[in-house]
Amino acid sequence: MRLIVKPLDRQSAGKGIAAIDREAMAELGIENGDFVAIEGEKGATVVRVRQGQAGERQRGIVGIDGQTRKTIGARLDRLASVEEADVDPANRLSIALPDGLQIRGDLAPYLREKLANRAVRAGQTVPLSLGLGSVMGRSNRRIPIRIVETDPEGTVVITQSTDVEVAEQSAESVDDARDVEAADSPESPSVTYEDVGGLDDELDQVREMIELPMTHPELFQALGIEPPQGVLLHGPPGTGKTLIAKAVANEIDANFSTISGPEIMSKYHGESEERLREVFEEAGENEPSIIFIDEIDSIAPKRDDTQGEVERRVVAQLLSLMDGLEDRGQVTVIGTTNRVDSIDNALRRGGRFDREIEIGVPDTEGRHEVLQIHTREMPIADDVDLEQYADNTHGFVGADLESLVREAAMNALRRVRPDLDLEGDEISAETLETLEVTEKDLRSALRE
Ligand code: ADP
Repeated sequence: MRLIVKPLDRQSAGKGIAAIDREAMAELGIENGDFVAIEGEKGATVVRVRQGQAGERQRGIVGIDGQTRKTIGARLDRLASVEEADVDPANRLSIALPDGLQIRGDLAPYLREKLANRAVRAGQTVPLSLGLGSVMGRSNRRIPIRIVETDPEGTVVITQSTDVEVAEQSAESVDDARDVEAADSPESPSVTYEDVGGLDDELDQVREMIELPMTHPELFQALGIEPPQGVLLHGPPGTGKTLIAKAVANEIDANFSTISGPEIMSKYHGESEERLREVFEEAGENEPSIIFIDEIDSIAPKRDDTQGEVERRVVAQLLSLMDGLEDRGQVTVIGTTNRVDSIDNALRRGGRFDREIEIGVPDTEGRHEVLQIHTREMPIADDVDLEQYADNTHGFVGADLESLVREAAMNALRRVRPDLDLEGDEISAETLETLEVTEKDLRSALRE
């Protein structure tokens, strides 16, 4: 049957799960924990089903995480085909790890635990979090694990009695795995909507202003309205402005180019304009494109402020590039600023940055979501009550919460390996298995 694709709840993302509402499950004749094959425009995958949370009023929907949506080519709010899938328990599984992953000892038991209940097939690459990503300073970091061979063949589910073997393979044979890593590069960010916490309304607005015109230009033509050329995201630093921009670019498969306001202003005479022209030109050639201008106030401060000769020239260039966008088609400019009132008014006029969205400091619920996102990939102890931390972190923005969680993970790591050298040291499989972020780790991180 065909179901409408929605984002998955944030905590289930990246775990080989899809959420389907009760009515649709009944119609498909499946129960919680069964497997379904979901087919998008680019391919199909098999995932385990969880019943959509109570309170989700919509029917006929399937929640799929961003990574999976991308892999199979399933767009949000569009239909995807979902059918019950036959999945055998795996007797044996052989997997390959990417080169350069320095882990000593027998990883098999740990990996079996991590992969338990997932459906896989030979040739597939599963991006798996080893619980260390956040410690290494990249909370979304996943290690691409390649499924080399399964017994029986076909799609299998990993169980407690699956015999997991780590195959001796060189990086060359794990090509796909490197593609997954490359997806982390700034040009094609791998951030998805499930990685953005506490900003549902703001995300809706961004989607309406940017995603809709890009995916359905005909709607705008039919209505005779101009889609926005530029959107200004404003609010305090670290609240998720960059994150939202990257997520929307990733979701619509748009090319993403970044311009840093302060950086461009530090260029030599004439170079700033040249750089702006380059970026706009490149974006035009690779549409759909999003041009992201961070801290746009440093390029275009208000004229009655201290605007000098250079600023005037750069602003003039930016304005003419934006005005020229009309015939370029699917290019949208997203600017960010901490101080919306300090921007040159000429930039905020019609046809330029004429839409503004405020990205504010998160409330308790928002902080809870952000904490859930950043602990999603972590081995977190049962005694940790994230809601309590959401209550106790008034005034924290997303970036603060992320560093809180990362600091807690560092505490956990130091506890296991007091003299750990993250750069050179090998991690043992045993360390990975015992690694756990406890209430105490979080508490002392909060005190610092
Ligand atoms: P801004 O662009 O508003 O200054 P960023 O988007 O660069 O802030 O946020 C920095 C980091 O903080 C992000 O990469 C993310 O890890 C974390 N973060 C900030 N806001 C959020 C949020 N709303 N949800 C999840 N993580 C967030």
